[in-house]
Amino acid sequence: MDDLEKLKAELSACRECRDLFGFEPRPVCMGNFVAKIVQVSQAPSVHVHETGISFNDVSGRRLRNEWYRISEEVFYDPDVFYITSVGHCYPGKSKNKGDNPPPKICAGRWLAKEIDMVRNEMFVLVGKAAADFFFPKEGFTDLVFSDHTIKGKPAYVIPHPSPLNVRWFKEHPEFEAERMAKIRKAVHDAIASSEG
Ligand code: SF4
Repeated sequence: MDDLEKLKAELSACRECRDLFGFEPRPVCMGNFVAKIVQVSQAPSVHVHETGISFNDVSGRRLRNEWYRISEEVFYDPDVFYITSVGHCYPGKSKNKGDNPPPKICAGRWLAKEIDMVRNEMFVLVGKAAADFFFPKEGFTDLVFSDHTIKGKPAYVIPHPSPLNVRWFKEHPEFEAERMAKIRKAVHDAIASSEG
């Protein structure tokens, strides 16, 4: 068992936030240490919590079909994508429409170690929580429309594909019309390198 698999086994057993959530946590992440793309998002949705499969929801369909334009088979190939998040468990519903924020303790405990162990070529950060973890001093929209690096590897920031994010998309139509084309090419290049 490699170091990442050992870490994932420990992560799967984590119940640190049981009292905070008021229900049994279910940590979710997917992928191998050879994955070409590390994708980091906010936290699993309730549907992901129920199924144990990352982005197995409306947001995931938009991400795969409209933005990346790849099949489920490629998205869930553990040698292509390492799919993780700032908070690894569904954090429960907030009093507003959305979910609670990811527990602060989670990223330092798990994410920082995961990204040290995966030999990826690039990062995709999905949503503000993931962007803030890596680039806490920069504005979210500026991050989306500029190129970055994490550990010397290309890193792209995209908005969360959640249907609740309507306003941001209305205000920034150039994201889907232009910016995503560049990010999609980088994703497809990384996928192609996994096939070589
Ligand atoms: S959110 Fe993170 S720290 Fe909390 S129980 Fe899940 S894996 Fe553990």
